[in-house]
Amino acid sequence: MNKKELIKGLRDKGIKEEILKAIQIIDRKNFVSENNLEEAYEDHPLSIGYGQTISQPYTVAFMLQELELKKGDRILEIGTGSGWNAALMSYLVGENGEIYSVEVVKELAEKAKEILGDYKNVFVFNMDGSRGLAQYAPYDKIILTAAPKQMPEEIKKQLGDGGILLAPVGEYMQKLIKITRKKDKFTETEKGDFIFVPLVNKSQ
Ligand code: SAH
Repeated sequence: MNKKELIKGLRDKGIKEEILKAIQIIDRKNFVSENNLEEAYEDHPLSIGYGQTISQPYTVAFMLQELELKKGDRILEIGTGSGWNAALMSYLVGENGEIYSVEVVKELAEKAKEILGDYKNVFVFNMDGSRGLAQYAPYDKIILTAAPKQMPEEIKKQLGDGGILLAPVGEYMQKLIKITRKKDKFTETEKGDFIFVPLVNKSQ
């Protein structure tokens, strides 16, 4: 597939124009490994080394849509990986938004920092994010791109009033859980089945 075909496919699956535009501009080719360049626009995950993957474009697009991103949003991402999702969010929240992205694998964090060097509103941290990043909380949006076995309560607390958290939760197959916070009330909805890499939990 080429980029045009990928975008058409995503549109047919219900992805909105705003997200498609971000995918058009923030080229996935720049975030995949050199030996996978030919597959950059295939709608499946690709290996980025260290047992990790750059997520499937449809999954990324679906999650971005469910996050209901607004200009100026402050976002926490757990699992920077290739940095593609962080770059897409950077574009979607605009220059007044901020992306705090946490990656546990040192080599991936360093590579992402390099690739994202020109994105002035993205901050990559090399650390275990299984307990979130309390330092910069509260966030308008929180996205986990690796799957915890259970919803991490500590990360939930880092969501601001009116915020949205998305996390794939479960051991082998995951349910994508969307949490919306209104004051101290957290409402959970399920958004379908997905497969993600597991969230490493160093404190266990
Ligand atoms: N958003 C990424 C998808 C990466 S896959 C992209 O656009 O490419 C999930 C990533 O989560 C992997 O890179 C993995 O190393 C990372 N990860 C797993 N457990 C983690 C943890 N506890 N803290 C931070 N990152 C973690």
